[in-house]
Amino acid sequence: MQSVRFGRWEISDDPEATRKAYASVPLGGPEKCGCEACQNFAAARAQLYPAEVLVLFEKLGISPNGEVEVYHLARLAPGRHLYGGWFHFVGSILSGADAMKQVAENIWQPDLEKINENFSLGFSSRLGLVRVPFAGPPLVQLEFAAKVPWILPSTEPT
Ligand SMILES: [Zn+2]
Repeated sequence: MQSVRFGRWEISDDPEATRKAYASVPLGGPEKCGCEACQNFAAARAQLYPAEVLVLFEKLGISPNGEVEVYHLARLAPGRHLYGGWFHFVGSILSGADAMKQVAENIWQPDLEKINENFSLGFSSRLGLVRVPFAGPPLVQLEFAAKVPWILPSTEPT
C-alpha cells in the first residue's frame, strides 16, 4: 500500500495488485465494444491522455489501454468529440470530495478536476461494471472526460 496525492484527493492504493488485475484483462472497453465511436477513441488513445495523467496511471498500476468502458457524449465541433470513461484500481479514497456528486435521489453528477483544455478526471468510490480480475479488494473508480479528435476515415457521429 502507498498513498498518492492528486488534485483534491489523497488516495491509498496497491499498484502491484492493480497491475496484476490489468494483466488479466485481455482487452480494454473500447476494443471489446468495437463500435465506431469506440474504434475512434482507441485510434486516438496515444494522443489523448496528458503526460501527467500517464505518470499517475503508472504510479497507480493502471494500464492506459485498459479502460472499463468509454462512451461518446457529443460532437462539440467538426472533428472534435466529447467522451467519458473510467478505470478501476485497487485502493480507497482517504480524503477529497467524491468525483460523483449526488444531486438528488439516484442522480449523480461528475465533479472532475481539469488537467488541461481537453482532459478532466476525478476519483469516486461508486463503481460501475467491475471486471472479474478486479473483484474482491476495495476499488476506486477513476472517472474522466476527454475531448478527442475524430481520426477515423469514416463519417463522424453527430
Ligand atoms: Zn462502443
